[in-house]
Amino acid sequence: MLNPSSQTDMDWINKDKEYIWHPFTQMKTAGDPVLIQKAEGALIYDENGRAIIDAVSSWWVNVHGHAHPYIANKIHQQLLTLEHVIFAGFTHKPAIELAERLLKHLPHQSKIFFSDNGSTAVEVGMKMCLQYFHNKKEKRHTIVALENAYHGDTFGAMSAGGDDGFNDPFKRHMFQVERILPPTPENLNQSIEQLKKIVEKGDVCCFIFEPLVQGTAGMMMYTPDALDQLIQICKENNVLCIADEVMTGFYRTGKMFASDYLKQKPDITCLSKGLTGGTLPLSITTCTEDVYSAFLSEDKMKTFFHGHSFTGNPIGCAAALASLDLFEREETQKNISRLVQSHRAFKNKIQEHSKAENVRQQGTIIALNFKTDSETSYFNSIRDRLYDYFMDKGILLRPLGNVIYFMPPYCITPEQLSKVYSAIEKALDELG
Ligand SMILES: *Cc1c(COP(=O)(O)O)cnc(C)c1O
Repeated sequence: MLNPSSQTDMDWINKDKEYIWHPFTQMKTAGDPVLIQKAEGALIYDENGRAIIDAVSSWWVNVHGHAHPYIANKIHQQLLTLEHVIFAGFTHKPAIELAERLLKHLPHQSKIFFSDNGSTAVEVGMKMCLQYFHNKKEKRHTIVALENAYHGDTFGAMSAGGDDGFNDPFKRHMFQVERILPPTPENLNQSIEQLKKIVEKGDVCCFIFEPLVQGTAGMMMYTPDALDQLIQICKENNVLCIADEVMTGFYRTGKMFASDYLKQKPDITCLSKGLTGGTLPLSITTCTEDVYSAFLSEDKMKTFFHGHSFTGNPIGCAAALASLDLFEREETQKNISRLVQSHRAFKNKIQEHSKAENVRQQGTIIALNFKTDSETSYFNSIRDRLYDYFMDKGILLRPLGNVIYFMPPYCITPEQLSKVYSAIEKALDELG
């Protein structure tokens, strides 16, 4: 038995190293992980009480700040009432209420399907599209995705993701996907041409994309108008569109969903990360009435045979409902606008800096490329130097290669914001 009082921090770290395999981590060369004791608002605290600003929202999931008492209380109440129940043949009010409330924000969607994480939300979306045409006896199998995309780490999601080398060991088992250029201003015409050429063949099933911001690609951004043009082509050619809003959902882009900026609406939407306010794993795939109705039949084989043990988990649903309550508070909406304004002001200031390239912002996300002399890549050592530099200052930023991005919980205070901005500015001055 571990007796916390008799163990030093180093004992815990050593035990971590003995027993745990961390995600996206080369365990041989990784430094010691930081032992976190508690968190509150935009701050996480290590065992010695040192505060670190969570400037990446703990991998983009946290929206209302850590250990929010309102969400915690709702989870507690739900745990004492109904922790979980099988979701086939049974249902419960938290799931029903969440579905109803979310669909009010997605007026073009009509059904909610639950799963547990962003990757499975994407798998579900792609499987819905493939079976939609299968049920209709139409031969449409091709999936179109954007270059440099990230949709998760399960096989379908990896297949739809960018061809970046990380998935080389699995390549033989991944399915083929047609990729087009992301519709950034410089690539838009080519992107449109590529899509037109692919859909012309008549066998395209769906087009999947991260709307407005490609997160893992390095916070690459493009305009709603550009995406509208691509979706329009899909609509004209009977191709289903999947908006992977796993990262962009819940006001990351300034509006509730990135799709809210679009004139053309997707047929399917994937949500996770911010869904429970960053507290519990839960995800949702929504679809239109048209998609849903292709599965309705006397024929059992037209059923969507997909489900997970914890589908529709009531505690996750309660957390998501609590998060929606918080979004309805004036204070939250004020925080979001303040963050957007504040990023805008910083963007205007920092884009003059000689080391800052392509300073970009979409809502609560700001990103820039750190101009270095050496060739840039994900493994660029500048990434590690920047990471350490910010950690020394009590700020958690995880650059993607030479891309510094900042997307905090919306409750971040003005003081914490300026601390991060000036650290970024200083990093540009001092490193490189
Ligand atoms: C993080 C992410 C995913 C995968 O979500 P997980 O919960 O990590 O499986 C999928 N799509 C996008 C756009 C993401 O940012």
